[in-house]
Amino acid sequence: MPRRKAVRTSTLSTALIGFSLVAGGSALSMGLASLGARPGPQSPARQVGVVGPDGRGDPRGCIFDERLASYAAGWPFDLCDCPYPPACDDPINRDAAIPTPATPMKVVRIRVVVFANDDGSDPTSVLGEVEDQIAVLNADFAQHRFYFQHTVDFINSTAARIGAIPATVFAENPGVQCNVYVVATNGSSATGPWESQALADEGGVLMSEDHFASDLHVLTHEMGHTLGLWHTFHGSQLNIACGVGPCHDCSESVGAANTDLVGDHCSDTPPMLAGGFATCTSPTGIDPCSGRPWGAMPENYMDYAGALLPGCDMLFTPQQSGRMHCWSADELSAWFSAPGDLNGDGFVNIADPIFLKDYLFGGGAAPNPLCRGDVNGDGGIDIADMIYLLNYLFSQGPAPTDGC
Ligand SMILES: [Zn+2]
Repeated sequence: MPRRKAVRTSTLSTALIGFSLVAGGSALSMGLASLGARPGPQSPARQVGVVGPDGRGDPRGCIFDERLASYAAGWPFDLCDCPYPPACDDPINRDAAIPTPATPMKVVRIRVVVFANDDGSDPTSVLGEVEDQIAVLNADFAQHRFYFQHTVDFINSTAARIGAIPATVFAENPGVQCNVYVVATNGSSATGPWESQALADEGGVLMSEDHFASDLHVLTHEMGHTLGLWHTFHGSQLNIACGVGPCHDCSESVGAANTDLVGDHCSDTPPMLAGGFATCTSPTGIDPCSGRPWGAMPENYMDYAGALLPGCDMLFTPQQSGRMHCWSADELSAWFSAPGDLNGDGFVNIADPIFLKDYLFGGGAAPNPLCRGDVNGDGGIDIADMIYLLNYLFSQGPAPTDGC
C-alpha cells in the first residue's frame, strides 16, 4: 500500500522570496519568434515579467498562480494573459484540437525523480507509490488521449530533497522528456508550454511529497498546467486576489461574451472562485463585475478542490482537452514518443524490434503502453510486428502504426 500523505491546507506560499522585473520589449520579440504558423488573437503587450530565485519563471509574465504567489506576493500586475498572441489561445485552434475517441494517443515521456537524503534515508516516495501515481495519471488522461510513459530515478541529495538547491539541478534531457521532481517541500508547481524554460533544465514539474499519493490528483493538475491549462478560477480569482480589482479588461466575468478569450481561455468552465481544499464545492458569492452569482465546477482538475480532495476529481472539459492538444503539439512535441519507439528511448531504431523480441520470447519488459507493440495495426502483438518493424527500418516498409 502506498503511504498515505496528509493533505496540506494550502499550496500557496505567501512568503516573498524574490523576483525580477524584465522589460517587455525584448521579451515580446522573443515570444513572437516562438510562435507557430497559426495566427492567434491580438493581445496587448504587457510589460511584466517574473523570474524566481530558482531560475523558474518567465520574462513574458506567463506563470501559474502558485509560483506567482511564492515569487512575488502581492504582485501588482494581472498575469491573466501572455504578452504575445499565442496561437492556442485562439478558440478556433483550440476547438480544432479537441480529441475524439479515434484521436491517436499522444504518448508523452516523463521522468520521475525521487529524492532521498544523502545517506539514502527518508525518500520522498517509493517505487510502488510512483507506479500507483502514474496509473492514476494515465487513468485521468486516457479519455483525453494522453498517455505518460515513465521512467523513475532515485537520487540521494538532502539539499535537493528539502529545496535548499533547485531540484532542477538534476534535470536530465528536458528537451525530450518532462522531468517530474518529488520533493519534501510545500506546494507543487509546473512550467507552462509557453514559458521559455519549458524544454530547458529549469522547467518541469515540482511535486510536494504530500501531494504525491494515489488518492490525490495533484499530478494530474500539474500535468494540466504543463500541457497548457490555467486554473479554472484564473482571471476571476486572480484579479481580485492581486488587488487589480474586478472588471479589469482581463477578468473573466459571469455572463460575459469573452470568456473564451480571458481567464482560463475556456468558455466551458464557468467564471468561478477557487475551491477550498476540504470540500467538493465552489465558493458562492456574487461576481462584483457582473452582479451575478459565481459559477461552480469544483470537480474540475484545474480547481484546487478537484485536485486535492479524494472523490472530487472528475473532469477536464472538452475545451481544456483541446488546449492541451494544441499547446503540446505546438511546443512540446519533442516529448512525444513516436509509433514504433517501443522501448521509449525517443528513437525508432534496431533496439525496438530487439525489445519486442525480448518481450515476446525472452521474458523482457512489455512495450509501454502495451498497445504500442501493435506496430502493424492488426490488433495483436506478435512476431509479425517484429518483422513489420524490421521491414520499416531496413527494407522501406510502411511506417509503424500508432497501435493505441
Ligand atoms: Zn495549479
